[in-house]
Amino acid sequence: MLKGKCALVTGSTSGIGLGIALSLARQGANIVLNGFGDAEAPKAEVAAVGKDHGIRVGYHGADMSKPAEIEALMAYAQAEFGGVDILVNNAGIQYVAPVQDFPAERWDAIIAINLSSAFHTTRLAVPGMLAKGWGRIINVASAHGLVASAQKSAYVAAKHGLVGFTKSVALETATSGITVNAICPGWVLTPLVQKQVDARAAAEGVDGEEAKRRMLAEKQPSLQFTTPDELGELSVFLCSSAANNVRGQAWAMDGGWTAQ
Ligand code: NAD
Repeated sequence: MLKGKCALVTGSTSGIGLGIALSLARQGANIVLNGFGDAEAPKAEVAAVGKDHGIRVGYHGADMSKPAEIEALMAYAQAEFGGVDILVNNAGIQYVAPVQDFPAERWDAIIAINLSSAFHTTRLAVPGMLAKGWGRIINVASAHGLVASAQKSAYVAAKHGLVGFTKSVALETATSGITVNAICPGWVLTPLVQKQVDARAAAEGVDGEEAKRRMLAEKQPSLQFTTPDELGELSVFLCSSAANNVRGQAWAMDGGWTAQ
């Protein structure tokens, strides 16, 4: 379904980004991976699932907090893959503290990576998408793009901002073949959330399983983690022609978190 398209997924060396990259590769898209840590294993994994389609997989290690590196990433995608047809703004970090103790440096990093990076990739991707008459922009927001939790002021501000940004660009591109949407996961058991599981287990003197159970019970009525695979399949739907008129939405996949 996506053969010949190029999908750039930021922050795709682990977790949700890798799950989305795998789902898009299964549909035949060429993939540009990005993120920190080992890139060889994720590259091989993505290439393997797209092998039957003969996909190409690239990698660029841009730090998404740095606009000049984002420009280099987009130039790489243009030079190697003819530009980005599917842009998944997924890179993100978390930091948990009450606002009066929140380090200003962590605030700036969260806004830069979780919000401003999407502005930079989008402003650089849209001209090419307009020229081709087709594009998909998927912003990985969060349940925290729709509702708040205590001690996550920077993250909640960035994710609400990302949902607002999504709506604005969706309106600007509404009569074009480019759709722009956000997806809003609840808890997904990735390294980002494992840190919070470990912190809760330590704070409450319980084991990891009990900490997970308590986190789910507090927020996620299904009592099940959303998976990177499920988010990947939602992304495939948003890339399909069935979703041509899904525009400016913030699509929750949160086990009922935001229905409460
Ligand atoms: P993760 O920690 O597993 O993955 C984050 C990815 O981003 C990694 O590939 C990491 O290398 C990359 N990254 C971090 N900082 C970067 C930077 N400065 N430049 C480039 N890459 C960078 O986390 P995840 O849970 O998969 O999170 C992915 C996205 O999903 C984030 O935007 C997060 O806010 C969002 N999200 C996660 C959950 C959850 O429960 N895990 C829920 C809702 C939304």
